[in-house]
Amino acid sequence: MPRDMIADDLLRQVWGFDGFRPGQHEIVETVAEGRDVLAIMPTGGGKSLCYQLPALMREGVTVVISPLIALMRDQVRALREAGVAAGALTSGNTQQETDSVFEALGQGGLKLLYMAPERLASGGTLSLLRRAGVTAIAVDEAHCVSQWGHDFRPDYLRIGDLKRALGVPLAAFTATADAETRAEIVARLFDGCEPATFLRGFDRPNIRLAFQPKDSPRNQLLGFVAARRGQSGIIYCASRARTETLAAALNDEGHSAVAYHGGMEAAPRREVEGRFQREDGLIVVATVAFGMGIDKPDIRWVLHADLPKSIESYYQEIGRAGRDGDPAETLTLYGPDDIRLRRTQVDEGLADNARKGADHARLNALLCLAEATGCRRRRLLAYFGEDMAEDCGNCDLCLDPPRLFDATEAVRKALSAMLRTGERFGSGHLIDLLTGTSTDKIRDRGHDRLPTFGVGGDHSRGQWQAIFRQMMGLDLCRPDPERHGALFLTEAAHPVLRGEAGVTLRHDTTLRPKPANVLRS
Ligand code: ADP
Ligand code: ZN
Repeated sequence: MPRDMIADDLLRQVWGFDGFRPGQHEIVETVAEGRDVLAIMPTGGGKSLCYQLPALMREGVTVVISPLIALMRDQVRALREAGVAAGALTSGNTQQETDSVFEALGQGGLKLLYMAPERLASGGTLSLLRRAGVTAIAVDEAHCVSQWGHDFRPDYLRIGDLKRALGVPLAAFTATADAETRAEIVARLFDGCEPATFLRGFDRPNIRLAFQPKDSPRNQLLGFVAARRGQSGIIYCASRARTETLAAALNDEGHSAVAYHGGMEAAPRREVEGRFQREDGLIVVATVAFGMGIDKPDIRWVLHADLPKSIESYYQEIGRAGRDGDPAETLTLYGPDDIRLRRTQVDEGLADNARKGADHARLNALLCLAEATGCRRRRLLAYFGEDMAEDCGNCDLCLDPPRLFDATEAVRKALSAMLRTGERFGSGHLIDLLTGTSTDKIRDRGHDRLPTFGVGGDHSRGQWQAIFRQMMGLDLCRPDPERHGALFLTEAAHPVLRGEAGVTLRHDTTLRPKPANVLRS
């Protein structure tokens, strides 16, 4: 029987699905062939099927390493109900459960064995897996092997050894797509040998994308929520304190809102998770601690009260909305204070300089999306390596195209201000220079004698701030992490300086200047 007949039949008979989701079929076939695979799929894209189904097509046992015990138990239960011999070895097991898994393994009666990564640390595990006839390894949430990711699990570092010791193929799955995490996964799980890599199906067309510069953030937020009364939603904030104050403010407005953050005890956290899963119309005001493992299909909206830390975080967080495929809405509020906060978090973190540079770049990618002049989904998907044939028609910029202006002249002035001052200053000083503001620093450096001094008087400070932000968004210049955000020119800037390329920017993102010392709102 041809292979895809088998896969199709199993899909129908065991899972009761009519067809594969985008990308699933190829991954299933490649895993079933026994090749090493790295699959990057969005949350809700149907990863589990991509290792469960091949496990049934192959001889022997497939070990599944997964960080979430609750999810493992759910999957094992669902598989058993579908008639698949599956078991789990986790710390949550009763002795009886563990015994029955060992027994099934001994009799060669298991196809899928789920295991928490911590289990790999115990000495007996390797010989157990050897005896059990393991022929493949599947790794869920493979980005947990990345030491820099916020989900790092030290025991994931043992998976590479396990693969080597067993000499079997490995299939790794994650929703984190950036090149750096991918490279780390390849290095640590595959000994640096490139696996067959799949990057699929990142589009979630039912989710509306929108960004707004913070103007009057509290009103923007309350307005958005008021228009969606009674719907389940998540508000993400950058700080724990803010989750509490915002939840209180929403309750005062007659909404049903609860705060959730990593500083809370496990029990109240679990209670919020349970309520959110059960109740209709509850709003959870949370830090990023809320989300992994939340599987509520009818979350109707996600609002970012503050700018997320990277384009990956943004994508993951909005992706929790509308898993049922019905229309869902998102809004991301951002302002100069957020950008500064995120930059400071990167600069003051413990990472080495290369890593900090990469983190700034991921933040820049998100800013680029925030400052986009055309279809946001196009840009978002392009970041994840997918091309869209047409604009989406379901983002704020498609629905309400922004007013644009030819900013070539202004950008050229800004770039030459950077060049003439040796690419050693941040936007604040450069704006002083362009607007002809004679500060002490300007005079001390003799910058009031430069030809660029005051050439930008036709734009206000606020307009210049918007222009600089958009220039960073377009990657014409970047902040130098080793020089406290001093802006330097990228390759892309040179054609503009030479007059070979023009620049179009948005009019509508002009923000009122804010005091520079405010980092948190
Ligand atoms: P994730 O990629 O987040 O791990 P899951 O594997 O949990 O996603 O799948 C998400 C949902 O999609 C599950 O409810 C699953 O049953 C469903 N699903 C997966 N593949 C298909 C398919 N081919 N047809 C229909 N539903 C599917
Ligand atoms: Zn669009």
